[in-house]
Amino acid sequence: MTADPSAADLIAARPHLPMHAMDGLLLEGVPLNAIADALGTPVWVYGAGTMRARYRRLAAALAGLDAHIHYAVKANDHLAVLRVFGQAGAGADVVSEGEMRRAMAAGIAPARIVFSGVGKTAHELRAALENGLAQINVESPAELEMLSAIAAATGRTAEIVLRINPDVDAGTHAKITTGRADNKFGIPYAEAAALYRHAAGLPGIAPVGLALHIGSQILSLAPYHAAYARAAELVRALRAAGLAVSRVDCGGGLGIGYGDEAGASPEAFAGALSRAFAGLGVSLIVEPGRWLVGPAGVLLASVVLVKGHGRFVVLDAAMNDLVRPAMYDAWHGIVPVSAVDARAAGVAVDIVGPVCETGDTFARSRLLAPLREGARVAILDAGAYGAVMSSTYNARPLAPIALVDGERWATIRERQSHAALWEGETMPDFLG
Ligand SMILES: *Cc1c(COP(=O)(O)O)cnc(C)c1O
Repeated sequence: MTADPSAADLIAARPHLPMHAMDGLLLEGVPLNAIADALGTPVWVYGAGTMRARYRRLAAALAGLDAHIHYAVKANDHLAVLRVFGQAGAGADVVSEGEMRRAMAAGIAPARIVFSGVGKTAHELRAALENGLAQINVESPAELEMLSAIAAATGRTAEIVLRINPDVDAGTHAKITTGRADNKFGIPYAEAAALYRHAAGLPGIAPVGLALHIGSQILSLAPYHAAYARAAELVRALRAAGLAVSRVDCGGGLGIGYGDEAGASPEAFAGALSRAFAGLGVSLIVEPGRWLVGPAGVLLASVVLVKGHGRFVVLDAAMNDLVRPAMYDAWHGIVPVSAVDARAAGVAVDIVGPVCETGDTFARSRLLAPLREGARVAILDAGAYGAVMSSTYNARPLAPIALVDGERWATIRERQSHAALWEGETMPDFLG
């Protein structure tokens, strides 16, 4: 990115965020000011219509393939979000027992849930089997042995895919690349065929295919082409060795445009799947998280004060709410909610939170209209890896969440109370 895109450009590129001259910024059909008036700030706002539209676009792109969408729950695990995607037709990709239980609580059938994760415990594997999940993505020989023992002891058969590590660099931030040989994920490519053969002979295990997930926020097709070509090559090698392979779980990772860069194109992604797997006769699973839900959420915040002769704009939202800038140096668009402010000429400011860490900075040298105390801003594209990564650091209660659906909206999480912050903490007797 050269110059930061202006507030007007960011809004113009996001049709689900129309700017109204009087009401200010809307999400779908609801003025964000109305939600902030009712719930205060900071507050998360998600758009159900936006999520559905994104799901439909991806589903349409995949229509010519035998491909199934399993929404990656970790991107945003609110029950209402899971309900929206479940109703749209998605299954779920979960990485813990908690996510499995959330998905089921939201009404997603276990037969539509796949279980990924590098360190599933015996307890989690047992729960997955008892609940009849569709597929377990096995990431190591040790997990395979553990699962076989549990399945055999309970008289069940686990449908598994082996997650391979294709040793492909997805070219994203080092903390979110997962498909390189030096990452902790998956089974080394060179060892996968032998392990697959071994799995086929294990009690309680039915290997049906392969899985791979090379990273997140991927904007170029090249790493997908490279990784999927390796997976397809392994499918052919396994079959040549007499082993049955009927499924490839292609993971997620589709990136979105946080600034003015284009997001990944689902149509181009479908082309990559087709190029690698068409003609192989395998069914495909895809596990997008960020692409489906990221653009559908904003974090609304108010200006607490401006200090340093106008240099620092301090918001009432902080890194405990949205950690991506502090953790991944992530860039998020930040736009005024007021139409007048969004049009005004900007001055370069650092937009920061009130937490006692210098890392608590949402943006540096960002052009923003001069804002008064109490003015509201929307931090854009915060629907994925936003509220799910929040903490209560600095004893800051978790922010409330509102769900918009066209012209309607509802509170889907209340602001956490202060008392709830220490709920569950106990004082030992010896402290009196
Ligand atoms: C995190 C994750 C996903 C989703 O990644 P996105 O970048 O949000 O699409 C999919 N599959 C697995 C195994 C994951 O760990």
